Amino acid sequence: MKNAYVKRVWEYVQAKNANEPEYLQAVQEVLTTLEPVVDQMPELEPNAILERMVEPERVIMFRVPWMDDAGNYHVNRGYRVQFNSAIGPYKGGLRFSKEVNLSVLKFLGFEQVLKNSLTTLPMGGGKGGSDFDPHGKSDKEVMRFCQSFMTELYRHIGADVDVPAGDKNVGGREIGYMFGQYKRIRDEYTGVFTGKGLTFGGSLIRTEATGYGLIYFAQEMLKKVGDNFKGKVCVVSGSGNVATYAAQKLIQLGAKVVTLSDSNGYIYDADGITQEKLDWVKELKGVRRGRISEYAKKFPSSKYFEGKKVWEVKCDCAFPCATQNELLGSDAKTLLSNGVKLVAEGANMPSDLDAVNAFLDAKILYAPGKASNAGGVATSGLEMSQNSERLSWSSEEVDEKLHSIMVNIHNNAYDTAIKFGATDGKFVNYVAGANIAGFVKVATAMIAQGLV
Ligand code: NDP
Repeated sequence: MKNAYVKRVWEYVQAKNANEPEYLQAVQEVLTTLEPVVDQMPELEPNAILERMVEPERVIMFRVPWMDDAGNYHVNRGYRVQFNSAIGPYKGGLRFSKEVNLSVLKFLGFEQVLKNSLTTLPMGGGKGGSDFDPHGKSDKEVMRFCQSFMTELYRHIGADVDVPAGDKNVGGREIGYMFGQYKRIRDEYTGVFTGKGLTFGGSLIRTEATGYGLIYFAQEMLKKVGDNFKGKVCVVSGSGNVATYAAQKLIQLGAKVVTLSDSNGYIYDADGITQEKLDWVKELKGVRRGRISEYAKKFPSSKYFEGKKVWEVKCDCAFPCATQNELLGSDAKTLLSNGVKLVAEGANMPSDLDAVNAFLDAKILYAPGKASNAGGVATSGLEMSQNSERLSWSSEEVDEKLHSIMVNIHNNAYDTAIKFGATDGKFVNYVAGANIAGFVKVATAMIAQGLV
């Protein structure tokens, strides 16, 4: 880092958050790319914009007691990080996973602020969740947990205050239970959650939105270099919401998807994953809550690799859609030596800093998650609009809006990178473009609103 103000803030962040590696990683990546804009906006420093951007407005932490089916008591920890409300109510998902702690939620909340800004919809950034893991729990146990979680969280959220959604391990089932409990306590029926079921205020295409949006974004990147997905060999990691709908859109666009994974290993299907096989995976992971290894038993054209990552498979395009830091510098090297041309992130911060730098140094097409996975939250924004109008739009209408939002996000990141000189010949640095474009809108709103 060269800019003295950026450097000072980075030192402050490191000193204040020494035990939060994921948060430091997210902030470092953003601060290093903001230097050109900080040089050009002298008003940032006297308004302490960077100092305020790296400090959440509010962090709520609470006890979540719940009872299992055998009558035993358990206690988990719940959180909501309300990061920045300069451009709208806090908005961001809830994650239920053993890995959840303040570092993970602060990194996700920080990224969410910039991502929501990129959508151009009026949404601030937040994130929350719990170290509760729904794997292996019965529906009733998950319901009791969700009800207890909401019994505390309800007082901090609301349609115009903070609107949570799903994230890892928080899907339609969990959102339904939490929304039900909110409604019961508050005695009001509002759009306090997005990702709701279609019978109670959910939006068509919300389930598909992050995966579809990711592929719409990547399609724009290919278009810029005169290419498309026809016949491209694609690897996708994960087998949850984002991964399956990314794979679905790729298949529709004529690509050959050859992998899916979970936290135990991956499957490689030499014939390519078809829509039929994908429907089977959705049922396996979403309903039966099984393991991806079962795919290899069901489909003889495939093989299962225990404890391995999809990045060892030769491909044209790679889509990390599972979790943070799933793609390390060494994985990036393998992908690059196998000739990968495009990497677009469906998950949040799936590539570590070494991997990001390897992709940028190799000058391939590389899309950072905060831009390429913004389709989910953008469609959540559309769900909020439908809820406040008491209307529901058709699938085609929502999909069309999602597509045009993703094209806009792409163009905004691309044009901003060019405007701030984050290019090298034909190479355009989408990381810098997305970070700067997201940041400027939030910073401008913060300055206008004074010292709050
Ligand atoms: P899901 O819980 O639906 O799916 C996560 C998938 O990733 C599961 O298949 C899980 O397998 C797998 N997984 C978890 N850890 C690993 C690992 N270390 N290696 C390989 N696979 C792993 O979550 P989502 O699809 O909703 O979210 C995935 C990512 O996308 C997260 O980073 C999330 O923050 C991000 N995201 C999600 C959005 C959304 O709309 N849902 C929006 C924007 C970003 P297992 O069964 O073993 O747990």
